Amino acid sequence: MTKKKKEKIIIETLEISDLASEGKAVGKEDGMTIFVPYAVPGDIVQVEIYKKKKKYAEGRILSIQQLSPERKEPICSHFGTCGGCKWQMLDYEKQLLYKRKEVYDNFKHLGGFDFPEPLPTIPSPKQYYYRNKLEFTFTYSRWLDYDDFALQQQENNFNLNGLGFHIPGKFDKVLDIDHCYLQPDPSNEIRLAIRDYAITHKIPFYNLRTHEGVLRNLIIRTSSTGEIMVIIIFKEKKEELFSLLDFIAQQFPKITSLQYAINQKVNDSIFDLEMQVYKGNAFIYEKMDDLIFKIGPTSFYQTNSEQAHKLYHISKEFASISSEDIVYDLYTGIGTIANFVAKSAKKVVGIEYIDAAIENAKENALLNQLDNISFFVGDMSKILTEGFIEMNGIPDIVITDTPRAGMHPAVVQQLINISPKRIVYISCNPATQARDIILLSPFYHILKVQPVDMFPHTHHIENVVLLEKK
Ligand code: SAH
Repeated sequence: MTKKKKEKIIIETLEISDLASEGKAVGKEDGMTIFVPYAVPGDIVQVEIYKKKKKYAEGRILSIQQLSPERKEPICSHFGTCGGCKWQMLDYEKQLLYKRKEVYDNFKHLGGFDFPEPLPTIPSPKQYYYRNKLEFTFTYSRWLDYDDFALQQQENNFNLNGLGFHIPGKFDKVLDIDHCYLQPDPSNEIRLAIRDYAITHKIPFYNLRTHEGVLRNLIIRTSSTGEIMVIIIFKEKKEELFSLLDFIAQQFPKITSLQYAINQKVNDSIFDLEMQVYKGNAFIYEKMDDLIFKIGPTSFYQTNSEQAHKLYHISKEFASISSEDIVYDLYTGIGTIANFVAKSAKKVVGIEYIDAAIENAKENALLNQLDNISFFVGDMSKILTEGFIEMNGIPDIVITDTPRAGMHPAVVQQLINISPKRIVYISCNPATQARDIILLSPFYHILKVQPVDMFPHTHHIENVVLLEKK
């Protein structure tokens, strides 16, 4: 390491050797781990250290001396500034390998249980345009890159309004997006038309610091049925907003649900807002095999629908349900997995703590004419009691699709007490999954470990584990 000027620490040549947890690239220098965003294993880089701790440091690339063969040219012009697809510079096949390795590393280092080699990560059917939902933020003063700065200097009337994504870690900085590769058409077209109309008609974009302005958020939901939901969140009700909504409705007759809400709170959460339908329906439908799901503006639905379909198939295959089996679907959300497996089972019980999701879940079961599912609202650690199990039947199979935090120890203990013959554990966090499996491992064999890629070009990973009673 050499010190240039005061405080600046430069490493002239650092070989990037691996991708660590959270998808960060790392290299080693004098026994110290250096994290380098946007680097790729195999790169040789010159790095400036901006944070130094006892055991690790964080640095940014100053120049790349040798490009890794694992590199790929990012296709997005916002790559590097936008937080959305941080792995676009990494070959997709390699992304899949690293995700599998991430599962392996977590299980090996945190586990202490026997497990089979993770199966190859299942690739997403689509690498781009795979999301069915995006949320954008309006800003009166968008994040400027160097070119913008130059333009701003030249033009008096330089417009700073923008509509896009938050810069990672910065609540008040929003990057204006030209083209986003995450959601299929007509997502980009709709967003750009709304932005341009609002600029031309001088509708004030929101100031995230002073909380002034009118236009706050835009949510676009697309679906496999072709239906489209567009929601605009305003700070206050004003006449000009209706001309914007009229414009959207006329310009995009494809939109089947156009809604708006007023948000006068400081935070952006939409869960407590009253949605108003401006045109069309209050919901859209998603289709999966012969099942349909009704999606409201705040309903949770897996964002990569095609890959969710694969995830559910794998989970169902692992569960290997017979017509005599009682199946519990823990953390059921809007009941998607419960609906998906119901025809193979004698009975399904879905549990979830969000009221509105369970309302959706019940409606979905009705729509799909499935009368062997019951849904219950409650916190998992409180609801899954002996009494509950007596009432609803001892499950032969449990499918648990946990949140990032994993299962509460009381839930794991209850699973051990109930002792179903199989548990299919789906998780988006292999670390908490490994932690929970440690507790289950004296009673269960781990038969299969299957990573699934729900989010290409990000380090996020979904993992399905099949556990069978010893
Ligand atoms: N299986 C569903 C949703 C999985 S997301 C699907 O595939 O669509 C995890 C779900 O767990 C969320 O719906 C969340 O609301 C719910 N959840 C989180 N913590 C919970 C708890 N302590 N008790 C019950 N449900 C919980």
